[in-house]
Amino acid sequence: MKRAVYPGSFDPMTYGHLDIIRRASEIFDILIVSVLNNKPKTPLFSVEERVKILEEATKDLPNVKVDSFSGLLSNYAAENNLHVAVRGLRAITDFEYELQLAQGNRKLSDGHLDTVFLTTSLEYAYLSSSSVKEIASFGGDVSHAVPEYVASQMYEKFKQMKGMD
Ligand code: ADP
Repeated sequence: MKRAVYPGSFDPMTYGHLDIIRRASEIFDILIVSVLNNKPKTPLFSVEERVKILEEATKDLPNVKVDSFSGLLSNYAAENNLHVAVRGLRAITDFEYELQLAQGNRKLSDGHLDTVFLTTSLEYAYLSSSSVKEIASFGGDVSHAVPEYVASQMYEKFKQMKGMD
C-alpha cells in the first residue's frame, strides 16, 4: 500500500489545497492530510476547526484521512511509518521555501522521508489562505476560493474580531 502525508497549515483549506488532495488521492492508496499545529503566528482557525473543514471537504474521498500533528514532520512521519510527503507548487516563489523544507525533511529523517510535488491547476495558482483571509476580512466575495461553509465561518470570525475592537 502506498501511503503519503499532505502536511500543511490549511488555515483555512482552499480549493487549491482540495485540488492537490484529490489528485494525490488518485496517486496514493492512502492519503493522510495532516494539519500542522506549531506555527508561531496565531491562526484564524483552531486545529480542531481546520480538521473539521478538511473532513467535510474530503468526505467523498474514502482513501483520504485527516489528522493533525505538532513538532517536526520527520518525527510524525517516522512515528506513523510514512515515507512520502506531498506538497503543492504554485509558482517559482514557492520553490525555494519548498526545496528547503524537502531537503530538511530528508536530512532529518535520515533519507526516510521524500517529498513529491504536484503543480497547481492553473485556475488555483493565485489562491493562498492568507489572501483569502484578507478578502474575507473586508467582507469580499471568496466563493471562488473556498466552500460556502468555510466562507461563512470566516465572515463570522472576522465579525467577532471587529466586535472586540
Ligand atoms: P504551509 O504549510 O506552508 O503553511 P499551506 O497550508 O497554505 O502552507 O499549504 C500547504 C501546501 O499546499 C504547500 O505545499 C502549498 O504550497 C500548497 N498550496 C497552497 N495553496 C495552493 C494552491 N492554490 N495550489 C496548489 N498548492 C497550494
